[in-house]
Amino acid sequence: MQKEFVVIGLGRFGGSIVRELIDQGADVMAIDIAAERVDEFATIATQAVVADTTDEAVLKSLGIRNFEHVIVAIGDNIQSSILTTLMLKEIGVKKITVKAQNDYHEKVLRKIGADQVVHPERDMGIRIANNILSNNVLDYLELSDEHSIMEIKVNEKIAQKTLIDLDIRARYGINIVAIKRGNSINVSPPADENLQLNDVLIIIGADVDINRFEKKVL
Ligand code: ADP
Repeated sequence: MQKEFVVIGLGRFGGSIVRELIDQGADVMAIDIAAERVDEFATIATQAVVADTTDEAVLKSLGIRNFEHVIVAIGDNIQSSILTTLMLKEIGVKKITVKAQNDYHEKVLRKIGADQVVHPERDMGIRIANNILSNNVLDYLELSDEHSIMEIKVNEKIAQKTLIDLDIRARYGINIVAIKRGNSINVSPPADENLQLNDVLIIIGADVDINRFEKKVL
C-alpha cells in the first residue's frame, strides 16, 4: 500500500522531511502558510498547498483526516504549532508527530495528544557532542533517558579480539547486537570471531555502562 503523509511547515526541517519521504517513494501533501515556501515544493511534493493549518475548516476541506500520519514542522511559532496539533487531534488524525522548540512546548504537545514529539536541534547537538568527545563513537540513538544504541568503531586496542575475549555482557551489562564490516552487517555476530580494525560495533545498553565500556576498553 502506498504510504501517505502530510507535512505542515516547510522550513529546513519540514522541507527535508518532505524531500526524504518523496525520495523513499511516499506520497506527501506539503503545506505552508507562506506561498513562496509552497512554490518551492510544487514540483517536489505530491501536492503542495498554501494554507493556515490552525483553521479547522481548512484542515477538513483538505481531507487531512484521511492521511495516515501528519508531521507538524512549524518552527518558531509555538502558538501555531500547538493550535495545529490540537485541530489535527480534534478532526481525528491517527498519528501526529510534532517538532518541539523546548521542554514546555513538548509538555503541552504531549498533553493535547501528540503521538511523537521530536527535538531535532537538541538531539543532533547531543549526537554531535558524542562524536566530538569520542573518536570511536560514530552514531548514537537515545532509547530513553538512560539507554542508548551506539555505533562504536573498533580501534587497535580491541582489533583481533573476540567477543568472548571482551566479555562485554558479563563485565559491562551491555550487548553487541550487530557488527558492520564494510557494506555488510551481521546481526548475530559469532562470539568467537576476531574483530577487525574499523569494524563498527552496534551496542545497546544503559548509558553509564556504555560509557564505562568506552573508557575502559577503547
Ligand atoms: P525551520 O527551523 O525548520 O527552518 P521555520 O520556522 O523556518 O522552521 O519553518 C516553519 C514553517 O512553518 C514556515 O515556513 C512557516 O511559514 C510555517 N508555518 C508557520 N505557521 C503556520 C501555519 N499556521 N500554517 C501553516 N504553516 C505555518
